[in-house]
Amino acid sequence: MDLQAMATRGCAGESCTRDEALAVLALPDSAVLDLVASAGQVRRQFFGNRVKLNYLVNLKSGLCPEDCSYCSQARGSTADVLKYSWLSQDQAVEAATAGIAGGAARVCLVASGRGPSDRDIDKVTGIVEAIKEADPEVEVCACLGFLKGNQGDRLKAAGVDAYNHNLNTAESKYDQICSTHTYADRVDTVRQAHLAELSACSGFIAGMDETDEDLVDLAFALHEVGADSIPVNFLLPFEGTPMAGHGMISPQRCLMILAMIRFVNPATEIRMAAGREVHLRSMQPMGLHIANSIFLGDYLTSEGAPGRADLEMLRDNGFVPEGAPDDWAERLDATDLSAYAEPAAPSGCGGHAGGSGCGGCGSAGSGCGGHAAGAQAAYEHAPGRPSPVDSGTPTPATSGFSAAAAFDAPVVSPRKRGAGTQLPANV
Ligand code: SF4
Repeated sequence: MDLQAMATRGCAGESCTRDEALAVLALPDSAVLDLVASAGQVRRQFFGNRVKLNYLVNLKSGLCPEDCSYCSQARGSTADVLKYSWLSQDQAVEAATAGIAGGAARVCLVASGRGPSDRDIDKVTGIVEAIKEADPEVEVCACLGFLKGNQGDRLKAAGVDAYNHNLNTAESKYDQICSTHTYADRVDTVRQAHLAELSACSGFIAGMDETDEDLVDLAFALHEVGADSIPVNFLLPFEGTPMAGHGMISPQRCLMILAMIRFVNPATEIRMAAGREVHLRSMQPMGLHIANSIFLGDYLTSEGAPGRADLEMLRDNGFVPEGAPDDWAERLDATDLSAYAEPAAPSGCGGHAGGSGCGGCGSAGSGCGGHAAGAQAAYEHAPGRPSPVDSGTPTPATSGFSAAAAFDAPVVSPRKRGAGTQLPANV
């Protein structure tokens, strides 16, 4: 296949053909570098070296009556995730503020459930207005389930910029992952978002036994429904859900999926979403040459990488957060010095001053945890950086991804901090 021809057409905003999309997914692993280089041309044409950082606030966690089989919040799920009803407005704004302070350009307000009641919309519009009043520049995306009536218009009037509703999997296999609603229901809500003049955010989850044809169907379906941003999730197989134990996706396969989505949707924001730490692992920077957006910090019910680690990944690979001040990398560098000279986490082993690894406490697993927490605390306490959400409680040791820890750690670590808890958010 002629990757350069696809890249040239992509740079002109032209989608690849269905056959080309299938051919991308059939490439051997040895072709991945060439594939990333080609898809990267298209990414840079439309997004340069910018990366949009998005921050999730889980307004209402668990307790969902729907039965989506991949979801830790679904009916029947016994996954060990936080369960709470609506955050108060103050709690929600506080969580959003932490994400914005961490560098997020967009806050994603998410609530579990089939869809919002009109009273739920009242709650969300109040939260959105408060967030926008504090920071008019920040984008707000809502993700509340199926919309009805004038709910989309009400969200738009309150200042919501975008609405997320994922298609999740191909139409042909939707009834295999959910019985309480249909693929058509999901497409309808994406259309409702458009009707309300909300930017449509819609993506999918890879890793649910779909075929190449299913993935290509999804890529073109997302193009057809007019998704402005496409979150590409890689399945997090939570214990306690029907998807527990499902296999890993190789980093090369993740990159092929991202590249295929880019070639079908050249000018669309593509987000490496949940599961990137688990499935792409050390290849995440290569993914950034294709995708132009990530979530910062933790996900709705699972832990992500430490926010600072992602900022460092961007800096080290020549990317710039969307909307960041010109001197953002210098500011980040400046906090490095204090992080290494004066470890802030008393529970750490102190062995990382030289940056040569610890060894002494075996901290690759769950024993130490002081390294990332120390660096993160130093950044949080840097001049000009706001205090963490709850400065009265200790910063917990983070269990964000590390290469060695991957051999011992469970595949999915449920989120136990941030929104809905007394502990600071992971940003
Ligand atoms: S509707 Fe949303 S929150 Fe509920 S089970 Fe499905 S994915 Fe999970």
